[in-house]
Amino acid sequence: MTPKVSSYVADSWFTSDVEGSLILDASTGEAVASVSSAGLDLDRLVGHARTVGGPALRKLTFQQRALLLKKLAQYLSEHTDNVYAQYGSSGATMADARVDVEGGIQTLLLYASKGLKELPNETLLVEGTPEKLGKNFVGQTVYSSRRGLALLINAYNFPVWGFLEKLAPALLAALPVVVKPATPTAHLAELAFREVVDSGVLPSGAVQLLAGSTGDLLDRLGGQDTISFTGSGQTAALLRAHPAVVERGAHFNAEADSLNATILGPDVGAGREGFSTFVKGVAREMTSKTGQKCTAVRRVLVPAAQVDQVVEALRDRLAKVVVGDPRVDGTTMGPLVSRGQAEDVAGVVRTLMGHAEVTLGGPEARLDVTSGDGERGAFFAPTVLVATDVRAPVLHQTEAFGPVVTIFPYDDLAEAAELAALGEGSLVASLVSDDPDVVRRVVEEIAAYHGRILVLDADNAATAMPHGAVLPQLIHGGPGRAGGGEELGGLRGVRHLMQATSVSGSPSMLMRLTGTWNNGVAPKASEGHPFRKFLDDLELGDTLFTGTRVITLEDIEHFANFTGDTFYAHMDEEAAKASPLFKGRVAHGYFVIAAAAGLFVDPDPGPVLANFGLEHLRFVQPVYPGDEIKLRLTAKHKSARTGSEWGEVTWDVEVTNQDDAVVATYDLLTINARRPQPS
Ligand code: NAP
Repeated sequence: MTPKVSSYVADSWFTSDVEGSLILDASTGEAVASVSSAGLDLDRLVGHARTVGGPALRKLTFQQRALLLKKLAQYLSEHTDNVYAQYGSSGATMADARVDVEGGIQTLLLYASKGLKELPNETLLVEGTPEKLGKNFVGQTVYSSRRGLALLINAYNFPVWGFLEKLAPALLAALPVVVKPATPTAHLAELAFREVVDSGVLPSGAVQLLAGSTGDLLDRLGGQDTISFTGSGQTAALLRAHPAVVERGAHFNAEADSLNATILGPDVGAGREGFSTFVKGVAREMTSKTGQKCTAVRRVLVPAAQVDQVVEALRDRLAKVVVGDPRVDGTTMGPLVSRGQAEDVAGVVRTLMGHAEVTLGGPEARLDVTSGDGERGAFFAPTVLVATDVRAPVLHQTEAFGPVVTIFPYDDLAEAAELAALGEGSLVASLVSDDPDVVRRVVEEIAAYHGRILVLDADNAATAMPHGAVLPQLIHGGPGRAGGGEELGGLRGVRHLMQATSVSGSPSMLMRLTGTWNNGVAPKASEGHPFRKFLDDLELGDTLFTGTRVITLEDIEHFANFTGDTFYAHMDEEAAKASPLFKGRVAHGYFVIAAAAGLFVDPDPGPVLANFGLEHLRFVQPVYPGDEIKLRLTAKHKSARTGSEWGEVTWDVEVTNQDDAVVATYDLLTINARRPQPS
């Protein structure tokens, strides 16, 4: 009997009684699994996410959630065998599978690391500093966790990365997720999801799996929920128009199809290193995942005089591709995911042929498959077309989701940029050029149509990530045809899933709410030196007002000679006077902050373990010989590290002169011990 793909709802596995859609092996056409969600209790699914998963995640701080991601990634990295063992059934080679599985785990790790380093050990995320709105009245933006769920609807081509890359920012934002894999590879998504469940790392309700149709699930979603869709533009348009989105305001993010362009710069001739980088890149994008990548190159923009050379070089490269069953050694490109997909791609190529000529491959090409079933498998020959009408809309708007590219000859850079923009919005474009003027012109012209632009030149061509690689630090998404969505991009991806709210009130109330002192709150003179207080005892607003120090010419000369910083403004009275900024010689800014440390430091060993940096340092006014400085040092923010005996303190420092004019401001960062706990 054909195995059934299960769903995971409210901490239990569910398998439908109904046979459902069949998944066939892409190389042999044999049945692999069937998928159905018939009988699945959608009310229970939604209820469990909202009433169990959400509250459990919201109890944790950002850093605690980041720690969960780290543990999950560590567990998954040691539990990939089951997924890899089955992966070949989808037509993907082991190299393709690694991009999906390892790529997903790396994305989890990146988000874990960013969460631990850059997010607070709190449940509210505070943006910037408060805006003064009036007397005793300030306002500030805070991000909070929405009360709904994130429905992650994924495309078939990345069954593992597809849900892990969305799950990482969602869990950091404390949104419980429901993963809805695409049917053609739902069996692989289920295997990976089983490892997520078996890790035991995530709280109940944080993740659920819905294999098969979503039925009327969207009827239950509204303004607190997020629908994060990846797939075709057609399905995106359907879901975007659903009442859950247009009437009830569910958040909708679409990553749809896009006809990504790569541009060979006019300065890169056939003998140049960039030329082979370019051709290699196009061939890689065509064959990796058999061209089934949303970011793959579809349009190849080449100076008209070089088209023949590019075609020849591509022919040589693609001749080496070994098409067959990816489980057989030596295969370098597998079939498409299904016969249906192969027929779709053939149909699109026939449409493109109305305005382009096939120079390699094509739907009628005889394909010598080295393994697998040439008849029942979904094999498709790598196909290169050359546009005969470069502006024909169909060539820029019809995606062949397979190993197919169209070459567009261009006459000048303006035409290259115009053609790239005819895609009406793409996820990514790449440009190979060593000429900064070419790069600037192209980037300025096409950036508005792209979510990401990769520039390859002689310095990075050998080492840069390929055109199609999606990196979690960078934005993934694109305008227009690409869906208008935005994912990843580091912590932008987390904020995107949270609610931004401006909160206004009195400065002291905002300080209590955000855990951050602001200068609308009167600083409170600390009883004893604040550096003698453990992290737990320090109160926000605790302040040290120091004594004074006169800055002398001897100080300045000593500092200059000692450090070697003999810049004219410190050493040459005439030259300093001639400068538009100074009335004469001035103290080094670095000396001012060093002297400030001498004023505030408490020398003996104590709770302050180390100074680990300064932020937002500004030298506001010059300090002249004879000026007398003093400072205010106020506890601004403190954060205990989870599971650690210390934490971090941010101090607001303001250095002033004898006229009380501010000469320097900065945040001082220290590591402070926590009060020892009785053992
Ligand atoms: P698809 O047919 O649009 O399906 C995408 C997902 O939507 C699947 O999970 C599918 O489930 C689900 N779906 C379809 N109709 C639905 C409905 N009425 N209600 C709720 N869910 C529905 O796309 P695909 O064939 O899987 O993927 C290929 C396409 O995705 C290509 O066009 C490619 O460019 C695009 N893609 C884009 C990105 C990106 O990040 N921009 C990434 C990968 C792929 P079923 O499979 O169960 O129908």
